[in-house]
Amino acid sequence: MEKLKYERPFLRKMSAGMMDKSGMPSDLIPVTHIDEVSVKSIITKYGSPVFVLSEKQIRHNYQAAIRAFNTRYPKVQFAWSYKTHYNNAICKIFHQEGSWAEVVSGFEYRKALQNGVPGNHIIFNGPDKHPAEIQLAVENDSLLHIDHFEELYILIEICSSLKKKARVAIRVNMDTGIYPMWDRFGFNFESGQALAAINKIAKSEHLSLTGLHAHIGTYMLSTQAYGVAATKLCELASECKKQYNIAIKYLDLGGGFPSANTLKGAIGFVPTPTVDEFAEVITNTILNFGFKSAELPLLILESGRVLIDDAGYLLGTVLANKKLSDGRKATIMDFGVNIMFTSFWYDHKISPAQEASQYTEETVLYGPLCMNIDIVREWVSLPLLNRGDHVVVHKVGAYNMTQWMQFIAMRPNIVLIDMQGNNHIIRKAENLEYLEQLEVVPEHLK
Ligand SMILES: *Cc1c(COP(=O)(O)O)cnc(C)c1O
Repeated sequence: MEKLKYERPFLRKMSAGMMDKSGMPSDLIPVTHIDEVSVKSIITKYGSPVFVLSEKQIRHNYQAAIRAFNTRYPKVQFAWSYKTHYNNAICKIFHQEGSWAEVVSGFEYRKALQNGVPGNHIIFNGPDKHPAEIQLAVENDSLLHIDHFEELYILIEICSSLKKKARVAIRVNMDTGIYPMWDRFGFNFESGQALAAINKIAKSEHLSLTGLHAHIGTYMLSTQAYGVAATKLCELASECKKQYNIAIKYLDLGGGFPSANTLKGAIGFVPTPTVDEFAEVITNTILNFGFKSAELPLLILESGRVLIDDAGYLLGTVLANKKLSDGRKATIMDFGVNIMFTSFWYDHKISPAQEASQYTEETVLYGPLCMNIDIVREWVSLPLLNRGDHVVVHKVGAYNMTQWMQFIAMRPNIVLIDMQGNNHIIRKAENLEYLEQLEVVPEHLK
């Protein structure tokens, strides 16, 4: 095993729970506005609960991320991870900024096409690509990232019947020192499976091996794991050159950078590396590997959560307070785990949305569902809240609006605040008509 590289230690100022001038812990300071738009006005106009996204924050995040890589490496491309948030308005912001699309299903693929992304700027990942979708992707000259041998054979068949050559990459899984390993996706590096796949591709007249891809996990807290991943992809690229005289055009390091959320069960303060720190490790690794300058690969990133989590808010309202049999206080909100999927792994920060009492109480925050697991926070310290009071839940921009479920309650409106502070509905609240439009009652039951 290779010796681990020395990583410079760094100190970071802790701000969690700090007091402000009034002696109020910063976590409890009311949040009355988002991008200068009042929370109350949004709820009055669009109802409660309601998701709000800040276009300003999204663009800021994207520009900071691309700068982190562009200032260190000459050829960088981001591809927006559709499954993180595939509302068209949101995708179009990323595409306007210059992002390609990274999709993991057929409907995401068609969404990207309909959003105007050129076929050759769509990366098609995932283990379940239907043959008809593979064909569509080949016809559109998209970048197919092969996940398993079965897919590789289907692809060769489709290309030979179309008499077309497809541009492909393989997804590679590997030991980066982070466990459990995500070895269910792609071809394994250490066992030689990845090289075996490369061998098959190199020998096929229908496939052109263009890139190498790894997505090592999500919410990764180790920059060094990306150094390992980049090194292993570089080593594979070098084998491609040596054994098959193939110059790999791009290395795709996937997504996985963490957002600044609080993971459940995190004890104390866990520092989250910044995009700059990831960029430093990844770009240094590739630049120092020894590619000829003409053959330096394009670096692709498929970041999702880090670019959008803190641009999303959920506004909600208190329905009731009650005492539990063991004496604990409980507060029932009008939003629950049905629309806040990420509450299963994050302790989301929640702020009162109006001037609040300085006295805090420990409370369990429940959602409105008639379902025992509907717990938004098992334990949170909040000022006294009464029925009708509003709260702001922070950092819910990633994965909630794609993983939300229609169970008992309908999905609410999504509102975008644009760069000028105007607000727009970008997805309407669902209603009974929407819910029933795909239902069919057989004749005998009418
Ligand atoms: C989900 C996913 C991403 C985005 O991951 P984040 O952790 O949100 O950055 C990127 N690439 C692939 C292949 C994915 O499945």
